[in-house]
Amino acid sequence: MLTLSQVRRTYGDTIALDGVDFVVPENTYMSLLGASGAGKTTLLRLIAGFEEPDRGAISINGERIDGQPSHLRDIGFVFQNFALFPHLTVFENVAFGLRHRVNAPVKNEKEIKERTDNALELVGLDGFGHRAVSAISGGQRQRVALARTLVTEPRIVLLDEPLGALDANLRARMCDELKAIRERLKVSFLHVTGSETEALMMGDKVAVLAEGKIVQTGAPDALFAEPLNAASARHMNAWNIFEAGLCTGTVGQGPIAVRFDQIDVSAKEQSPDARPHLQARFLTGEFNGPTALFFFRAKDGTLLQIIDHLSQPRLPDLVEGENYDLHFAPDAVRQFQGAA
Ligand code: ATP
Repeated sequence: MLTLSQVRRTYGDTIALDGVDFVVPENTYMSLLGASGAGKTTLLRLIAGFEEPDRGAISINGERIDGQPSHLRDIGFVFQNFALFPHLTVFENVAFGLRHRVNAPVKNEKEIKERTDNALELVGLDGFGHRAVSAISGGQRQRVALARTLVTEPRIVLLDEPLGALDANLRARMCDELKAIRERLKVSFLHVTGSETEALMMGDKVAVLAEGKIVQTGAPDALFAEPLNAASARHMNAWNIFEAGLCTGTVGQGPIAVRFDQIDVSAKEQSPDARPHLQARFLTGEFNGPTALFFFRAKDGTLLQIIDHLSQPRLPDLVEGENYDLHFAPDAVRQFQGAA
């Protein structure tokens, strides 16, 4: 189990991480979701030992690892750009980690061959060992990078936006493969990404990093359906967050959230009575195949989004620039503390 307690890291005036408490349990695929600049890479670099925290502790199974040299931590790191050696073959790229590691390099060629072949087989690249890394596809390069890390049998594998360099089709396929490989190995993966779909799809658990803190950790379905705060809801990219005061007949005060798929629309004069509602101007719609996304502007300027599913359409015909009544069931509302 990897544990971070009250970890802080600053760069000059920038507070990259501000009291991070975070646990990656054994045998878990953990996603870490955060916007650009949230501190994701910094967090991985502190765990790997490329940098040290200003404050706080990092431990594996109760043993402090912060302050230890990086090569003694037994932590694997897969970089976004894969960082392969372009002049070496696939086999030599993977074997490199074994031959040249500072801690107990492997000298026995038979062992190197056996372990390298096993790692290549694990990532589905058996038979590719002799190829130049310049002569394989992006997805295959990704797998070489993964094999190079796995061959050293790390205690945990850190993946920094591992799918970022792949095109959309390949990304979906690699998602399944990464999960399957991890399940075979039973070692924990910590996968950082800025994409909520990737985080929710990959993670057995998902943590949300915002403004230098972990704002929520949970199972993907729970996180999506029950964000605990506005920051967490915003990262799901599925919730409208607005001031309760904008609504008639709503609950409480402060920021509230209603999911994109839980708001209905009526013409202004057909306001339903019992449901919380607010007025907003229709801006435009965007069709995405089986769903359509409609954008509205509330009176205070807040942008609101509503999803309609084409198999069960529930929105009337909308005219751009017209005002409509947006309403929802009282129990669709999530109420948060603090500022929106
Ligand atoms: P992205 O998704 O864009 O890669 P990130 O979540 O990985 O972002 P970090 O790279 O961890 O974010 O950066 C967190 C904050 O720390 C940012 O404000 C960044 O500008 C700052 N930062 C990171 N590294 C340094 C550095 N070496 N010197 C100064 N500031 C830095």
